[in-house]
Amino acid sequence: MKPSRPLARGLQFLGMDILKERTAQVGRAGKEAASVSCGKVSAAGSVSQRACVFCGSRVVLYPVADAVHLVHGPIGCAAYTWDIRGSLSSGPQLHRLSFSTDLRELDVIHGGEKKLALALDELITLHRPRGAFVYSTCIVGLIGDDVEAVCRKASEKHGIPVLPVHSEGFKGTKKDGYAAACHALMKLVGTADVSDVPKLSINILGEFNLAGEAWILKEYYRRLGIEVVSVLTGDGRIDDIRRAHGASLNLVQCSGSMTYLAQQMEEKYGIPYKRVSYFGLEDMAQALYQAAEFFADEPQVLEAARTLVKGELADLLPVLAKAKLRLAGKKAAVYVGGGFKAISLIKALRHLGIATVVVGSQTGSADDYETLKQISDPGTVILDDSNPVELARSCRETGADLFLGGVKERPLAYKLGLAFVDHNHERKVPLAGFVGMANFAKEVEETVLSPVWGLR
Ligand code: SF4
Repeated sequence: MKPSRPLARGLQFLGMDILKERTAQVGRAGKEAASVSCGKVSAAGSVSQRACVFCGSRVVLYPVADAVHLVHGPIGCAAYTWDIRGSLSSGPQLHRLSFSTDLRELDVIHGGEKKLALALDELITLHRPRGAFVYSTCIVGLIGDDVEAVCRKASEKHGIPVLPVHSEGFKGTKKDGYAAACHALMKLVGTADVSDVPKLSINILGEFNLAGEAWILKEYYRRLGIEVVSVLTGDGRIDDIRRAHGASLNLVQCSGSMTYLAQQMEEKYGIPYKRVSYFGLEDMAQALYQAAEFFADEPQVLEAARTLVKGELADLLPVLAKAKLRLAGKKAAVYVGGGFKAISLIKALRHLGIATVVVGSQTGSADDYETLKQISDPGTVILDDSNPVELARSCRETGADLFLGGVKERPLAYKLGLAFVDHNHERKVPLAGFVGMANFAKEVEETVLSPVWGLR
């Protein structure tokens, strides 16, 4: 029996994708063999702390607040909603709604294109968004819906960008989802007039405005006299993203997710980029000085950066000294999404007198792991693509008192009887910037010193 047309198309698509992915893996493995081995696809069927490709795309794009986010797939994939990953918006709240085409058995047999087109018509008419993202999930990759064509037609019909996101969950790691999201964003960048963008201007990439962190950072840059053209994608707006190519510099915070976009923008629009981190004292100060250094022909920027850092430290250092008195000697396990964040956290914890005894990430690069090796204390357990059993064993063996992680590590920490600080997309307290470091010290102190741990 011949497979149905959508299924045949899907099998062909899947075959090509696997072939491409395998070729990429061989290339990556070759490069990494000489140094640290990471960035490999998780073993099929294993319980990994990593999330799927679709989740990677959703994390990057969902903070765009004036767009419809439509998950093309079964309803279960739409579990990744605003509720578990709370980016804030200063205006529209459309990103807080999660839409799904809710594909069922009959759609899998006959194809889901019609359902997708109808869903787009209904949502765009009802919500009048500035754009729409359509996420392909596993089953869409298998049945082979032509999502590109449906989006193109919807875009022409409604006069807004309707962008397909090729995020079929099975086709790689969360990192591949980041790349799919960047690919969709790149279609928006460069589509608006930028004649009014000043020279002293930047974009912040990989900042998702969790608990309002992007607003803190924008205020710092405003004090330096630098305009933030677009934050990708925290408190994001379609029209700002379209103007992003007017900025003079890209600062990339979550490098795992957005370096690809920064590289594309450098190639196409000649905008250089720098990696920054906004967590902890040194890295936050360094991020401001990096921008000042870039605009070296405007010496007032450096002067303003110095004044800002000096003023913030004068307030912050006494707070940290006090926390350190109570926390010195405690041990932490850190398992977060990106390697660069893990590096910042080791430094931030040292200011509180806490040694990091376990550290790892879902998507860290070979460079990140080299740096982690260099800055970690001897005997620190360093893990890539870990799972609950490995993390639990490492925490027990090293005697960690505190776990810093995300939604998947929280229950693990509590089962082990460890204090926990959320440093992922679900956090409700801003931890970026100097004010974020003060919040971080408070969070750590409150959880580590809670009397509940004495009842274990
Ligand atoms: S895209 Fe695939 S792996 Fe991801 S949530 Fe949906 S079914 Fe699961």
